[in-house]
Amino acid sequence: MEKMIYLDNNATTPIDPRVLEAMLPYFRDKFGNAASIHHKFGWDAADAVKQARQQVANVIGAAPEEIIFTSGATESDNLALKGIASMYADKGRHIITCKTEHKAILDVCKWLETKGYEITYLPVDKYGIVDIDLLAESIRKDTILVSIMAANNETGTIAPIETIGAICKAKGAFFHTDATQAFGKIPLDVEKMGIDLLSLSAHKIYGPKGVGALYVRRKNPQVRCEPIIHGGGHERGIRSGTLNVPGIVGLGQAADIAVREMANESQRLQKLRDKLYNELSDRLEGVTLNGHPNQRLANTANISFAWVEGEALMLGINEIAVSSGSACTSASLEPSHVLRAMGVLDVLAHNSIRFSLGRFNTEQEIDYTIKRVVEEVNRLRELSPLYEMAKQGKELRIAD
Ligand SMILES: *Cc1c(COP(=O)(O)O)cnc(C)c1O
Repeated sequence: MEKMIYLDNNATTPIDPRVLEAMLPYFRDKFGNAASIHHKFGWDAADAVKQARQQVANVIGAAPEEIIFTSGATESDNLALKGIASMYADKGRHIITCKTEHKAILDVCKWLETKGYEITYLPVDKYGIVDIDLLAESIRKDTILVSIMAANNETGTIAPIETIGAICKAKGAFFHTDATQAFGKIPLDVEKMGIDLLSLSAHKIYGPKGVGALYVRRKNPQVRCEPIIHGGGHERGIRSGTLNVPGIVGLGQAADIAVREMANESQRLQKLRDKLYNELSDRLEGVTLNGHPNQRLANTANISFAWVEGEALMLGINEIAVSSGSACTSASLEPSHVLRAMGVLDVLAHNSIRFSLGRFNTEQEIDYTIKRVVEEVNRLRELSPLYEMAKQGKELRIAD
């Protein structure tokens, strides 16, 4: 197999050729500014944005006016948290989130703490599901926002969004969800699920990088969000700046394809994902799944291979693109905050690999991946004194 295999679709996805095709005219003849109201260039751009807004809204049962285009989910998360924090500071300064959130949430929360806000970081169980009773107990009179992600990027674990939405509604706190990994992959309905704000991104669903959206509820109740970017008054004044028309067209097209193909695609991916996990755990000992066994995205399998460093395994199978459970963004090899919050031992977090499948993966690629991972895990274990001790039945203390 001379071609690289891409199994890191939770980090980003390749663009779908149909999405690229839809975008191209908006780089060429249809280059107008969607805010130019006096000529056809502007009208064509505005029409395209209008259609994309509808396409995005359709995926989550929203009205098109409730979609605010942004530069991606990081900006959407910033806008949701900072926007609500500053708009409702008089009502209260308490926000609830969860320990396994993406850094785009956690780092904003840390920043808000320096500005006089109080943040509650809820724990999760061993599958990565937030403690619902504790969530309900934690909502106070001065709680303005609860932010819990819809699906986790590292493990794929899906949160009980509808339950959380109902609790927030009953207790009078707004509910934001970072749905970057869930949007277009699992059914989402802002009405049924009681969602007040929702972040999404194009490049996780086969669209372009640098474009996303924030859903902001307009009625029952109306949610007001203070802008973080001022100037020009685009997007109902919530997010100024000339619209990224080709990007927005791409997001719309990607959303439309995702929702139409969701049922078939998730079925196909789940079969491949389960084949991958089942064969690996049949053929190797010491294989564990990190994440919920079934409340999980169809494309994600985060797997620990005991006695094998994830980083070493990744190097060994470098024709296959995956992620490890260590955040190598920092100079030190910190184990993932997500796995840690789930109570996964640090050693096993260091042994973990995230396989995230996507639209363009084939069964042949999964078969090849199984073969290569088995070979490489066996090879690395042969070199490992820890594995040698375990095999000889010496008691092996897995501690950190
Ligand atoms: C990728 C991701 C983000 C960041 O999205 P960008 O569009 O790259 O800024 C935020 N949250 C989650 C859960 C993600 O997976």
